Amino acid sequence: MLTMKFGGTSVGDVLRLQEVVSIVKTFLPEEPVIVASAMSGVTNILLDSAQRAVERNSDAVARNVQTLRDKHLAIAHALVHDDNRKARLIAQQEVLIDELANLFHGVALLKELSPRSLDAIASFGEILSCNQISAILEESGIPAQAIDARTIIRTDDHFGEAAVDFAVTNRLVSDLLVPLVGRKIVPVVTGFIAGTEDGLTTTLGRSGSDYTGSIVGAAVDSGEIWIWTDVDGVMSADPRSIKNAAVLPELSYREAAEMSYFGAKVIHPKTMVPAIEKNIPIRIKNTFNPGAPGTLISTKTQSTASVVKTVTSIDNLSIISIEGNGMVGVPGISARIFSALARMRVNVMMISQASSEHNVCIVVPKSDCERAVKELRNEFEIDIAKKIIDDIGVQEPMSIVAVVGEGMRGTWGIAGKTFDAVARAHVNIVAIAQGSSELNISFLVEQKEAAAAVQAVHDAFYIG
Ligand code: ADP
Ligand code: ASP
Ligand code: MG
Repeated sequence: MLTMKFGGTSVGDVLRLQEVVSIVKTFLPEEPVIVASAMSGVTNILLDSAQRAVERNSDAVARNVQTLRDKHLAIAHALVHDDNRKARLIAQQEVLIDELANLFHGVALLKELSPRSLDAIASFGEILSCNQISAILEESGIPAQAIDARTIIRTDDHFGEAAVDFAVTNRLVSDLLVPLVGRKIVPVVTGFIAGTEDGLTTTLGRSGSDYTGSIVGAAVDSGEIWIWTDVDGVMSADPRSIKNAAVLPELSYREAAEMSYFGAKVIHPKTMVPAIEKNIPIRIKNTFNPGAPGTLISTKTQSTASVVKTVTSIDNLSIISIEGNGMVGVPGISARIFSALARMRVNVMMISQASSEHNVCIVVPKSDCERAVKELRNEFEIDIAKKIIDDIGVQEPMSIVAVVGEGMRGTWGIAGKTFDAVARAHVNIVAIAQGSSELNISFLVEQKEAAAAVQAVHDAFYIG
């Protein structure tokens, strides 16, 4: 079997969808299993509409619902010609859009928008998308069936970014999908969405369809997992900001995980987890250029001229610094900081501690900063009163810049070359990660300087 995940841009318009059909046709002998995202832009429209609904901006909601209806029905009209099939698809999509409009109405009435409601709303993008992909495949003579992943991917109820129960999921996926493939039917599985034991809708986090691709691919014992997107593969930096970014032919799982964790949007960081477990290679391919070899992600890594493979950055971060002369030598401060943040489920991106120990810096997503600081102030209330801790300060918006490559740490001079390049670009480094893994050097800069830092480091390793 060959699991192929198609991203939002790959299923985002008539031409792309025709390309998807041609790709599926080409790989039919490999027994494809398809995982698909919502059409590009649709998840954002859904989440924006939910926000407008809770603000009771009914005009904006109505406009968005109309956009969604038009966008999907236009695909049905352009690509499905058999009268019965077309009528069936349009009816299906209309029911979903009406249901969605009702949900927005409910949100507006209650003036309440919980993460649980957001997941329920976001799930419509992938469901609408897979309905149409399966109809379009059928239209070109490929037996296909849309599969709602809420019935096969089981998670906990941490809405917005739920954790997968692999034991149950693997069983459900293989029980349901493998027999379909055996009957020469191509399953078209919704990416991104999943369900709890009680049947509630969850999501795997933004860009989570890549992860679905890998979960499904591993569960059906796929030979490879292919992620079809809109670039020729994983590149040495984000091609939107670095013009001379180069495609990387090969990466190790660890390199791919590390760079995606630090902002390379091309693949979701969790995608590597199920694939590593079964040693399944992942290939990143371009639907706009299917002949290109793409990037192969596996246990191997290719040694390039430079041990540095990629330079990435992640924006919208805050640095929280906890300072105080009284902190020196007091045991347990770090443990209390991390317990407080864990209680709030705040994701700590980077930690740095001055050797004098009177300052601990933690980098967190800007969206989590306010509640993190509140919890830390509670935790250290007495220590602040006793002047053991002087202050809890915040600086934002910040960015982490990460330089990633297997074997980098063992190679002399990489850190020197990195920091020298940043200094020559006149960018101030606010903090350097402590104890980051041996394949990554990461540091914090002000967000407005991040692009210059990335460009400087990229130039130093790829041109200099
Ligand atoms: P999809 O809709 O297929 O999931 P995404 O928009 O999520 O696509 O991811 C692909 C985009 O990721 C590319 O268009 C590119 O702009 C961006 N990107 C960021 N960093 C990198 C990188 N290092 N290599 C390749 N693409 C990158
Ligand atoms: N549609 C979802 C998103 O936009 C998931 C995905 O595309 O991977 O985040
Ligand atoms: Mg993506």
